[in-house]
Amino acid sequence: MSPSTSSSSSSRPPIWWSNAIFFVSVHVAALIGAILRPPSTLPLWIFVLTLLLWQTANFGITLGYHRLYSHRAYKASLPVRVAFTLMGSSALQGSIKWWALRHRLHHRYTDDPVNDPYSASRGLFFSHVGWIFFKPSYEKMKLIDRADLDRDPVVRFQHRYYVPLALSTSLVLPAAIGWAMGDTIGAFIWSGLVVRLLVWHSTFLVNSFAHWEGKQPYADDMSARGNFLFALVTAGEGNHNFHAFPHDFRAGPFADDFDPSKWVILFLHKLGLAYNLRKVSDKEIHWAKLSMHKKHEHENDSSSDLDSETESETETWTIQEVQSYLEHPGRAVMIIDNLVVDVSVYQREHPGGAALFTPYTLRSGVVLQDKSDEWKNASWAFNGGYNRHSTMARRRLRQLILARFDPTDEIRVS
Ligand SMILES: [Zn+2]
Ligand SMILES: [Zn+2]
Repeated sequence: MSPSTSSSSSSRPPIWWSNAIFFVSVHVAALIGAILRPPSTLPLWIFVLTLLLWQTANFGITLGYHRLYSHRAYKASLPVRVAFTLMGSSALQGSIKWWALRHRLHHRYTDDPVNDPYSASRGLFFSHVGWIFFKPSYEKMKLIDRADLDRDPVVRFQHRYYVPLALSTSLVLPAAIGWAMGDTIGAFIWSGLVVRLLVWHSTFLVNSFAHWEGKQPYADDMSARGNFLFALVTAGEGNHNFHAFPHDFRAGPFADDFDPSKWVILFLHKLGLAYNLRKVSDKEIHWAKLSMHKKHEHENDSSSDLDSETESETETWTIQEVQSYLEHPGRAVMIIDNLVVDVSVYQREHPGGAALFTPYTLRSGVVLQDKSDEWKNASWAFNGGYNRHSTMARRRLRQLILARFDPTDEIRVS
């Protein structure tokens, strides 16, 4: 099944030669190495080391690069951040900053052929490895929040010294262990080169196959899917239909979901090394599952039902009524699609961060006439300008509606 496309492709970006040459060379070297030193010639400890270093890099990506840094799904103490950063560096997938910014784009514009860096709408090969060979400039990148990444000294240090950190953890370390154990070449080939292939292709299958094949228990408004097999090789990330809730520290919310990354985070939480674990409410998950279930029962019914759900009894406010609502301290609203949406509390829960709301929000204590007109662009921001919001996000918005908005007076006031 192929995901739908939404906007037109831009002209072909330049080839990223250094990336392409390195990526192909590691593949060729690993292949030649594996032929020269086939598994039958290896001592047992090399198999163990290979498995161990593959999983070390894998968990560095899922726990560090993905859940901690890209989605801020939890917070971690300094030693944990350092450990995850070193583990993730060994995966040779770029610095945290480089990776997380692209991943945030992927979530904001999932399946968009231009602004999703590994868009599934461009085919299985492109979303798996094809995108690595190009160096596009993403027009929407300037909208992606990076302040938290710039603030973290671990992220800054790793970005600055990425190449020596990555090469020493990925290739020098296994060779050094091999030297100490008496088989430098064998360990370099298998625990160094072959492990890079394993971790690359297991991470990349989340972008490719997990947007192509698998179950969609929570949402079907974008291509992300999931299944046990993908979860098995990706430390849990293969439960990828949970895409709808990117800020949740879990990829599988249920006890029987295979999600070892979630178990590690919970364990660190018990030790006091991970905290502020974010998760969506059981009600939201229940609703998502129920709406998919209903959808399967009667094709095409879900969104229209939801749209009509709240609107029938909602009153209509003019801009003056919005202003009087905002006289109460601490209140904040957005006008989206001519609906007055209360974001006073929600802005702190928003997966993209509260800072994104600021220009588009009307707040108590700010005189409307003194405010720029940017708040009128909230509909644009919500409906694709900033993010292609999912059905789940639209559902959440509907829970926050205060009133319909009557725009006729608004022109006179502002
Ligand atoms: Zn995805
Ligand atoms: Zn993600």
